[in-house]
Amino acid sequence: MRDVTAELFQKIQKDDPNQTEFQQAVHEFLNSVDKIIDDLPHVVYHKVLDRLIEPERAIMFRVPWTTDEGILQINRGFRVQMNSALGPYKGGLRFHPSVNLSIVKFLAFEQTFKNSLTGLQMGGGKGGSNFDPKGKSDSEVMRFCQSFITELSRHIGADTDVPAGDIGVGGREIGYLFGQYKRLRNEFTGTLTGKSPLWGGSYIRPEATGYGLVYLAAAMLHDKGESFEGKTCLVSGSGNVAQYTVEKLNSLGAKVVTLSDSTGCIYDPSGIDDKKLRYVKTLKNVTRGRISAYAEAFKEAEYFPRKENGGANQVWTFAADCAFPCATQNEISATDARNLVKSNIKLVAEGANMPTTLEGVDIFHDNGVLFAPAKAANAGGVAVSGLEMAQNSSRIQWTAEKVDQQLQRIMKGIYANIRDTAKHYGSEGNLVDGANIAGFLKVANAMIDQGYV
Ligand code: NDP
Repeated sequence: MRDVTAELFQKIQKDDPNQTEFQQAVHEFLNSVDKIIDDLPHVVYHKVLDRLIEPERAIMFRVPWTTDEGILQINRGFRVQMNSALGPYKGGLRFHPSVNLSIVKFLAFEQTFKNSLTGLQMGGGKGGSNFDPKGKSDSEVMRFCQSFITELSRHIGADTDVPAGDIGVGGREIGYLFGQYKRLRNEFTGTLTGKSPLWGGSYIRPEATGYGLVYLAAAMLHDKGESFEGKTCLVSGSGNVAQYTVEKLNSLGAKVVTLSDSTGCIYDPSGIDDKKLRYVKTLKNVTRGRISAYAEAFKEAEYFPRKENGGANQVWTFAADCAFPCATQNEISATDARNLVKSNIKLVAEGANMPTTLEGVDIFHDNGVLFAPAKAANAGGVAVSGLEMAQNSSRIQWTAEKVDQQLQRIMKGIYANIRDTAKHYGSEGNLVDGANIAGFLKVANAMIDQGYV
């Protein structure tokens, strides 16, 4: 790294030594910006860089709630309002026991550049809690959500900060959060996205991240004269992003052979067709069961429990053409990346946020694997959230076809932008550089225009 970027990185290491996920996200970003920083007017852009890595605001609060048995519980709530240069803060809420300030900051940092790439008017933010919805009753989840939003409602609003879902926050949670927000404010506004289309949500929002991921990956293959027809694909996770990634891949003639959750993965060599996918949706969204049940329901599939001692992630050991990590951060280590390269993987597109370690990304680049980074590849979800905000502002609901067309247009546009930006700045084929540089320049120029605030 050059002096200016190296000094910045040392600063965040010194200021926040325990925030390893945030450091990882900033490191990847600075590696790309490093390649252009000397060509930009020094004082101007250096002064923006040090502001970009500092959240405009980070809110941490306690969330008291009671179990069905009347036992008092306490969790931690977070909202990091990273950057509002391009619009109201926008980004999801994650409910998972691993959530801490480092994870929320890394997600908010990534979100800022992702939202910039969509071309819509959205700043970057992210939030959540270390609450674990797994094993909780509907009424426990409802009481938790009501308590969480009671505090968060002071800090958000349709023109200020518009949260959405993420891991552990789906349609059920958004409903509970919205209902309580509406009571507190006595107003019906588009302050949360991911709402049901029955009451203010956008069609295609649940599908958007998975569909968008596949649209962007299809554009990458198209550039090489290829398509998904007949391709074998690995997908990890089995939640919102994974489910709609499989659905779109199936519709384009691909065969998906894996899914996973935090307890293990399934391998189904005959493919997870639409009928089996319907089973997965009920299993994960309604009965909230474990993915191991898939191998009991479909005898052609095999279940592999997760190994507790780390090591290789089983999902990435099966032969395939394309891989879509759709579970969580750092699920593709250097070992996993080597396993994928060994089995001749052609394309990796990130549905989850930062699922590949820095070493893993280098291994893909060094071996000519087409690699689409999360901040571009999974931007479809927030893009349709942006379209939901537009629909709410005009009090009109678009048809599913119209939203899907807009989503396809946005994803193709993002791919063309990051491909061309990488080429323009001498990093042809490196979409990580393309996404970071294109995302950075837009946010930085807006901040400069607005007086470096
Ligand atoms: P869901 O909660 O719907 O699903 C998450 C899936 O990942 C589940 O299968 C879950 O398994 C698995 N998972 C979560 N944590 C771990 C872990 N530590 N180890 C192994 N598996 C894990 O979340 P989403 O599908 O919404 O989100 C998945 C990823 O996509 C996240 O990185 C999120 O930030 C990203 N994303 C989501 C968007 C959206 O619109 N929803 C938009 C852009 C990015 P289990 O059920 O066992 O916990």
